[in-house]
Amino acid sequence: MIAHELAKAGYKADVFDARPHVAGNCHTARDAETDVMVHVYGPHIFHTSNEKVWNYVRQFDEFMPFVNRVKAITKGRVYTLPINLLTINQFFGKTFNPREAEAFLQTLGDTSIASPQTFEEQALRFVGRELYEAFFKGYTTKQWGMHPSELPASILRRLPVRFNYDDNYYPSTFQGMPKHGYTYIVEKLLDHPNISLTLNAKFDRSMAAGYDHVFYSGPVDAWFGYSQGRLGYRTLDFVAETHEGDYQGNAVINYCDEDVPYTRISEHKHFSPWESHQKSVIFKEYSRFCEENDTPYYPIRLAKEKSQLKKYIELAQAEQKTTFVGRLGTYRYLDMHITIGEALDVAERFLACAQTGQEMPAFVVDPLG
Ligand code: UDP
Repeated sequence: MIAHELAKAGYKADVFDARPHVAGNCHTARDAETDVMVHVYGPHIFHTSNEKVWNYVRQFDEFMPFVNRVKAITKGRVYTLPINLLTINQFFGKTFNPREAEAFLQTLGDTSIASPQTFEEQALRFVGRELYEAFFKGYTTKQWGMHPSELPASILRRLPVRFNYDDNYYPSTFQGMPKHGYTYIVEKLLDHPNISLTLNAKFDRSMAAGYDHVFYSGPVDAWFGYSQGRLGYRTLDFVAETHEGDYQGNAVINYCDEDVPYTRISEHKHFSPWESHQKSVIFKEYSRFCEENDTPYYPIRLAKEKSQLKKYIELAQAEQKTTFVGRLGTYRYLDMHITIGEALDVAERFLACAQTGQEMPAFVVDPLG
């Protein structure tokens, strides 16, 4: 996106990707056996309340109607997520209306926790022990490899609790799936005479000479040769299976019990409900600590990592003509729409700096913020 915007403004841009394809973790490809459009690095569902971002992405493909309605299996029963009125009523065997459900949840929440700091405190404060243990404790332990009492409350704050029957996973104004997949969009973005693309090429600091500016979206610690230690990530393993017909009847089902080794199963043909396929590809998703040659997914961002990150930020700020962008470049847990919005801001800022003669900063957002 940055390359595209700068190319339109007359700059020449060389784009490097370490992988044999573009689009990073959003990469989509048709499965040879089933013809299903597969989200190769796991489910990516586009949602945003930012109209500028929504209009931007829709220049490159038609976005088809898609609403993420996640189901969760816990202790032998199926519920809807995020926790909503149906979840509460089914879980407790009640017929509460919104007001009653809210009052009921207040009686379950631990009000002695005045300002929740950890994931566990946040859950106990707002939904109480039973819902926490059913939906969050096992899933989160599997997802992060840690007890929820060691994780920040901010992770749980990503998920709303609703006192109505709205089971749309995202509280965003706009949501949809690109008709031809995300890779198609990125290919269109890069299809410009001012852009050259090199695949299978990991860009590093030694290659920066000769460029007026570098926008680095690789891992910030890699740029500095891991001088402050490796920043911790979780990685995901996807175990694919092919089935006949409809495997699970929904795009995403979470498995919240700790004794089920995977966190969720995604069935990719349901991400393209406008298509029809006889066969089906599913991914069982397993989370584990990211080792040296694994794909980094979720930045861990606990106290240790944050103090390492501080040192990397200082190094980055002393760097010349380099801006660190994206999830890996800023070591943040980012959704696609945030990354895209920030990429557009970076491009705008660069063009403004070029006009005024100001120096382009290392970050346009505070990675610790
Ligand atoms: N989470 C959970 N149970 C669920 C779904 C999510 O405990 O069934 C927790 C988990 O810790 C996860 C966080 O809530 O990391 C945020 O969920 P989200 O669906 O946003 O995770 P993502 O899609 O980014 O993996």
